Amino acid sequence: MGLKNNYHTHTFRCNHCEGTEEQMIRAAIKAGMTELGFSDHMPWPTIDGETQRIRMSPNDIQDYVDTLVHLREKYKDQIAIYIGFEAEYFPKRADWLWEVKNTYPIDYYILGHHYHEYEARGRYFAYYDDHKNRCKHYYDSCEQALRSGLFTYFAHPDIYMANVKITKEEIDVAHKLCKLCRELDIPMEYNLAGCKFKLKTPDCYPRDEFWKIVAEEKVKVVIGGDYHDPYRILDDPFYENAYNFLSSLGVEILEKINIKK
Ligand SMILES: [Zn+2]
Ligand SMILES: [Zn+2]
Repeated sequence: MGLKNNYHTHTFRCNHCEGTEEQMIRAAIKAGMTELGFSDHMPWPTIDGETQRIRMSPNDIQDYVDTLVHLREKYKDQIAIYIGFEAEYFPKRADWLWEVKNTYPIDYYILGHHYHEYEARGRYFAYYDDHKNRCKHYYDSCEQALRSGLFTYFAHPDIYMANVKITKEEIDVAHKLCKLCRELDIPMEYNLAGCKFKLKTPDCYPRDEFWKIVAEEKVKVVIGGDYHDPYRILDDPFYENAYNFLSSLGVEILEKINIKK
C-alpha cells in the first residue's frame, strides 16, 4: 500500500536529494501513481548576508522547468506530471513568487514555511532561536502566506511544533491555523519525510497533538511523500502507519488535489 499520488517531490538541484527526475517518475509509475507533482525548494534572490543551502539558484529554474516539460510529454500516457515549488513566504520578497509563476509554466506552489523572512541558522522554525516569538512569527507569516492566494496546500504545517515542549501557546496556534485553512479551503499535508526524521529525533514533525486538532477542526488532509530520492517513492515504509493514524482520527484524506494554478 502506498501513496496514490504525490505532490511533494524534490530534485537533485536542492543539494540534498539523490536521483534524477526521470528515475523518480519511473518509480512513481511503478508504484502505481497517476499524478506526480514536483515541488523543489523555491530559489530566492538573495538578500545581504543570506546563504541559501537547501535550494537551487534562480539560474537553475529554466533547466528545472525544461527538464520536467520534456519528461511530462515523454510519460504523458502513463502519468500526469505537475511542475511546482515548495516555497516559504518571505513577505518583503513575495513579488518574486508571482514573477516566477508568471514567467515559467509553473502549475502550483505548496507552502513549506521553513524559515522566517530569510534562510539562516536560527531562523528555521524547527530549531528557532527566538523561542519567545516562535509561535507568533510562524502564525503571522503563515497567515499572510495562506491569504496570498498563491498556495495549493500547506506542507508540514506543524514544523513550528518540532523539537519543543508543546504548551497552550502551540495548541492555540494549531487551532488558529486549522480555522484559517478551513476558511480558505486549503488542505494540510501530513509529511512522510518527517516520519523518517522522527526515527532519530522523535519530537520532529508530524506531531500527534497537532493532527488531533486537525481532525477536530475538520481540515482536509493530504499525505505528502516529500521525496528526496526515488527509493521511498517506490516503497514508502511510513505511508501505511500515517494512513491508519489519520483514519483512526476520522480526518478526510484527499488522494487527489485541485492544483491552484
Ligand atoms: Zn528538502
Ligand atoms: Zn519542507
